[in-house]
Amino acid sequence: MDKTAPLIDPFARAITYLRVSVTDRCDFRCVYCMAENMTFLPKADLLTLEELDRMCTTFVRLGVEKLRITGGEPLVRKGIMTFFRAMSRHLDSGALKELTLTTNGSQLAKHAADLAACGVRRINVSLDTLDPEKFAQITRWGRLPQVLDGIAAAQAAGLRVKINAVALKGFNEDEQFSITQWCADNGHDLTWIEVMPMGDLGNENRLDQYWSLRDLRARYADRFTLTDLTERSGGPARYVRLEDTGQKIGFITPLTHNFCESCNRVRLTCTGELYMCLGQEDMADLRAPLRASADDEALATAIRAAIRHKPKGHDFDYSHTGVAGQMTRHMSHTGG
Ligand code: SAM
Ligand code: SF4
Repeated sequence: MDKTAPLIDPFARAITYLRVSVTDRCDFRCVYCMAENMTFLPKADLLTLEELDRMCTTFVRLGVEKLRITGGEPLVRKGIMTFFRAMSRHLDSGALKELTLTTNGSQLAKHAADLAACGVRRINVSLDTLDPEKFAQITRWGRLPQVLDGIAAAQAAGLRVKINAVALKGFNEDEQFSITQWCADNGHDLTWIEVMPMGDLGNENRLDQYWSLRDLRARYADRFTLTDLTERSGGPARYVRLEDTGQKIGFITPLTHNFCESCNRVRLTCTGELYMCLGQEDMADLRAPLRASADDEALATAIRAAIRHKPKGHDFDYSHTGVAGQMTRHMSHTGG
């Protein structure tokens, strides 16, 4: 086989987008994402920064054009800026079209300028509420002013910021329009994410938190003229434009729409497991072939073998009474 042949899965989808979780740790404990007392992975299990470089570089050689760094909180990983600097060489060579990250924003004030210098142009910042008390409640350990300072620093550094807000019933329903207005005032795109049945439900049954984006969209339609935009990211996001303000609003509805046919992405965990689908347990261990040999060809072969197992779609289903397709993984493990 041609060593540089692109990654094509069994359903003829080209895999051009890799999301990489660089740590399972976080300085927040968002209630829908983590338990308060999380046990994190032993450091030896994590890919080193050099291993992450080899891994990502091999994916880029196999045709990945977009790299999203996530976690846990990617900016709490020690030395992470070294990794961003290293990845910027793939932007310089033209092999990589986009290097980006998803962050809770807490460390942005420190790193925004460096990220911009590494060629990062757009970032996603997760922010579910603009009320300091509610923010402390939902993130348990987070502080809103720190995140707002981080967002301001990102903008000052020239980064475009997209806000991702998890839609939570009884929590931020009343902020739908104030968050939308704040994003408009500050020039941020906004995407709402439906809460997904990830992790250990424990006492917090995520069905209780489930706020359908269909409802959210209907509430926008009551107030604004909406135009459906046809652009797709290859992922679960759909977009509308609020004609009255010109604002673009995204909806990530993995549970109510089937987006799998256009899926172009795979996810690498911080321990080197490759998940072919967010909604399936099936994964391939890439750390073993990576550590077994200094030859990146063995790794490339393992990646190709894994892609041949990418499933057609996910099994999530919130039908009626229970949560079918319930995943036992936490979002911080695969990086969302
Ligand atoms: N720490 C970073 C952050 O919060 O942006 C990156 C990792 S976080 C796991 C990535 C995204 O997953 C965040 O936007 C977060 O809101 C979302 N997320 C976490 N748990 C979720 C859940 N159960 N359902 C839907 N989205 C979730
Ligand atoms: Fe941390 Fe992001 Fe999970 Fe919140 S959603 S606990 S910030 S990893």
